[in-house]
Amino acid sequence: MTPQAVTLGGAPKSLFKDKVMQLLPEGGNLNACLTCGACAAGCPATGLEGMDPRKLLRMASLGMDEEILRTQWAWYCTMCQRCIYVCPMKIDIPQLVFNLRKSWPRDQRPKGIRESCDMALRSDTCSAMGANEEDWRYVVEDVAEEVRQSQSGFEHLLAPMDKKGATYFLNQNSREPVTEPDEMVPLWKVLHLAGVDWTYGSKGWAAENYCMFIADDENWEKVVRTKAKAVDDLGCKYWLNTE
Ligand code: SF4
Ligand code: SF4
Repeated sequence: MTPQAVTLGGAPKSLFKDKVMQLLPEGGNLNACLTCGACAAGCPATGLEGMDPRKLLRMASLGMDEEILRTQWAWYCTMCQRCIYVCPMKIDIPQLVFNLRKSWPRDQRPKGIRESCDMALRSDTCSAMGANEEDWRYVVEDVAEEVRQSQSGFEHLLAPMDKKGATYFLNQNSREPVTEPDEMVPLWKVLHLAGVDWTYGSKGWAAENYCMFIADDENWEKVVRTKAKAVDDLGCKYWLNTE
């Protein structure tokens, strides 16, 4: 996308800044930016459509809400939180981004992640790719059997499903069983060799949660609760979330 010049104008309102400051401890620290640029230097989104996190924060601080909303910047952030770790003032730029996203009407948020969120809500597998319980179970059993048959030293490898009372409940991004099932095996091997008591679940197994990326709080919580229920129903002690 072609970078666009930012035009100054209008009465500053700083709605985004105010919202974020309400969420931060001790009245917020967005105004404490030293403009050092450490956040911009390490941000994977820096340079996309002229964006960088320092500029975004400056503009929010100056009340340039309208100018920010004329860009797609909110959707370039990966929510990696790298900027917080490197910031000497620990300024929470992803929280600012999250509020920017929430200000977009839901039907105008990016279609890909919006539909992935919607798909996850359609079943209690929580799979954004629509992988159902039966397919998931089949793929796991099939791949585990193939490893047992073909790989020396792993004749007793297990990929347990719905093992009640297992210590660890492991989830899995649905991209792996759907497109790259062999990618699941290295972790199984590690758990096997370490003697870990673990299980997958036939419900709530999909690790991804696109509702978070689309800033849909209500549905984000729904997905998390579905997954947490699956862990509780099996009586597992720990939930290993691989995302
Ligand atoms: S790293 Fe922190 S202090 Fe430095 S420019 Fe970025 S937000 Fe401001
Ligand atoms: S959280 Fe967003 S703004 Fe911060 S470094 Fe990651 S991509 Fe950049």
